[in-house]
Amino acid sequence: MARPRRTPGRRPRAAALPDLSQYGRLAEYNRKRRFEVTPEPAGRSPEGRHARGQPLQFVVQKHRARRLHYDLRLEHRGVMLSWAVPKGPALDPAVKRLAMETEPHPIDYNEFEGVIPEGEYGGGTVMIWDRGVWSPVVGDRLGDATDVDRQLAKGEIKLMLLGKKLAGGWALVRTGPRQWLLIKHRDQWATATDPTVSHPRSVASRRTMAAIARAAGASPRQLTEAIAADISSERAESAPESSAPPKPRRRQRKH
Ligand code: MN
Repeated sequence: MARPRRTPGRRPRAAALPDLSQYGRLAEYNRKRRFEVTPEPAGRSPEGRHARGQPLQFVVQKHRARRLHYDLRLEHRGVMLSWAVPKGPALDPAVKRLAMETEPHPIDYNEFEGVIPEGEYGGGTVMIWDRGVWSPVVGDRLGDATDVDRQLAKGEIKLMLLGKKLAGGWALVRTGPRQWLLIKHRDQWATATDPTVSHPRSVASRRTMAAIARAAGASPRQLTEAIAADISSERAESAPESSAPPKPRRRQRKH
């Protein structure tokens, strides 16, 4: 969600790199990143990435950039449509979560878990928090890419998710320029339990944010922020709403 950094000395170095601006809907993604610095994948031609008849992929990445948020990405026409959800997805149909539309990402990004260097766009720790397959929904049937185009234009996307943590029916409803609400439908997967609290670890590696940060050589500040992103889940877990005794704090680190 951070703004792209303006780097005065960037032009001469960038001139030696391949011009990626041709890559249509990934042009904004490419423009915001310096691929000689960040470990994130460059956006290449999205053509031919999706085999016909294969289910569409979705991913949710927990990302401690300037602020902690969860990036929801839905595969559509060779790219991952993306929304930054500050509080993360809620499985409670009564809870509407703000989802800020961000630039489409390459499908390769679904595999990215690590640390974006300090000072780079979105600098901080990224975790693959959930992933699976998705389908657009039209009435009581599954839709196709044309339905997604239509629903995007209308500002109301109905979808089914089948992931490890998120499942069932959902809606994305546009409420302003690049501003949407993510809402869980009432179905058998609806619950008041906050999945960001009950299932905080990586679905790809089972690691915490701190473990990802350490393994990827995060800066001391990034490591501190990653640890805080883990602890915020634990705090919410022992929030005083439940009558259960508070769980013992597992972390006693000093920072
Ligand atoms: Mn992000």
